[in-house]
Amino acid sequence: MRVWRMPKSLRMQRSAGKIARLAGLFSLCLIGLNVTESSAAPNAAKRPNIVFFFSDDHAYQAISAYNDPRKLIDTPNIDRIAREGMRFDRCIVPNSICGPSRATVLTGKYSHMNGFYNNTNSRFNGAQTTFAKLLKASGYQTALVGKWHLVTEPTGFDYWHILPGQGVYYNPPMIDNGRNVKHEGYVCDVITDLSLDWLKKRDRERPFVLMCQHKAPHREWEPALRHLGHDNDRSYPEPATLFDDYAGRGSAEHGQDMTIARTMTPKDLKLVAPPQLNPDQRKAWDAYYEPRNEAFRKAGLEGKDLVRWKYNRYLHDYLGCIKGVDDSVGRLLRYLDDEGLAENTIVIYTSDQGFYLGEHGWFDKRWIFEESLRTPLLVRWPRVVKPGSVNKDLVSNLDFAETFLDVAGVEIPSEMQGRSLQPILRGQTPADWRKSFYYHYYEYPGPHNVQRHDGVVTDRYKLVHFYEPSANYWELFDLQKDPLELRSVFDQPEYAQTQQDLTRDLERLRKELKVTDKDPPESSITPPATPKKAQQRKSTGQ
Ligand code: CA
Repeated sequence: MRVWRMPKSLRMQRSAGKIARLAGLFSLCLIGLNVTESSAAPNAAKRPNIVFFFSDDHAYQAISAYNDPRKLIDTPNIDRIAREGMRFDRCIVPNSICGPSRATVLTGKYSHMNGFYNNTNSRFNGAQTTFAKLLKASGYQTALVGKWHLVTEPTGFDYWHILPGQGVYYNPPMIDNGRNVKHEGYVCDVITDLSLDWLKKRDRERPFVLMCQHKAPHREWEPALRHLGHDNDRSYPEPATLFDDYAGRGSAEHGQDMTIARTMTPKDLKLVAPPQLNPDQRKAWDAYYEPRNEAFRKAGLEGKDLVRWKYNRYLHDYLGCIKGVDDSVGRLLRYLDDEGLAENTIVIYTSDQGFYLGEHGWFDKRWIFEESLRTPLLVRWPRVVKPGSVNKDLVSNLDFAETFLDVAGVEIPSEMQGRSLQPILRGQTPADWRKSFYYHYYEYPGPHNVQRHDGVVTDRYKLVHFYEPSANYWELFDLQKDPLELRSVFDQPEYAQTQQDLTRDLERLRKELKVTDKDPPESSITPPATPKKAQQRKSTGQ
């Protein structure tokens, strides 16, 4: 849909300052010529709004529209987006961890091109081109509320109101366009209230993009007090691999530190209360957790019974957080309905990556393996996306920036590395759509001790290269025969041809994507741009 295009001179600008100045100049030109925006761009009024729900660590297994066999939770509001729109079953991320994923969404680029490799020492270079800057310059109102986690201050947003670093669940301090503020209440509700406040105050004559970015369900998975006990002490079905011994795989899998059995802390397990609770909140917290914690202490569980207790506590808490996110989606969808905005608003629900809910014995993310590689993606766009449709193409959050620009009629910069999803949303996957995808994880040494690796993913296979001296080996997985990814078939004779094809494809992708070095070169770490207001980062941040 070509609706409106910026003049070429404006499109090609790379610096925010230049774009802002030229956008102003462009507006002045229109005024000088006595041309209104609508007459200059007849369809400008029809450019769709975008509401982008971006949760943190939301596993697709924990969205009922994804039909996980464990039937972990009902998410009626998130499911509504799937029912009235499209569910993507193969949305995969280039680097399964928070900050890098967020940088990819903004830039449409891999970590090695946008400079944000990991959460340990990367800082987002806010001077680079983002979809938000380009949409803003084209006349969109741009807002970002909630989790940011890119260290430097947001650029390209008319309004931003963010959590510092990881943020906290209760009574969260936030940064309102550079000003420190503190809110009372639960973080999902606060983010939703602020999002609604902004929508109510916006200029109703211009299209908008609202990024509603939840902290939940990130570790330590602290639900709203109203959701404590949401599952009536349910005993959750276990994944087949809860007690995985990592046989058939290499030293990286054996050496990780992200198991429910060994890695979870007393705070993760709610044996310790979070310090942010006020006295009334603490009372409600203790009323739920204390009797259960007391029973746990008395039981003296060991071995698999202890792991099972941790698994059930983890799922109660994690899924309780999802309840808070689902409430948020419900409130914003209702606002769109009530204001007559639903018809011309694209609603997207996604997460910065997938997450393990006990598969392989794990929580957390990082790996090229399915549960962390895949992220949920649901898109509603009335009259464009067929309601209830399901797509299985290899798509990625690398494609989001390109998609936003495309639907707004703004030219996609050639250096962006993804591709607009618009044809797919219209039910017409291009014949030359990608059949394989490059993945690269860098955060090592780092929390959870997951070794660096890269690899190539197709609809059936994964070729993986752990490449550090401490874990240097290849793996090949056949998802058709081994959907749980338990047995590498690398160097097995019957896979010789497949292995050769995938190796070539990996080389091709690395060349096309300009991957020049497997380690982030020192020069790529962006120097501090705004140290005065830089967000604090926890040393254990993820
Ligand atoms: Ca995350």
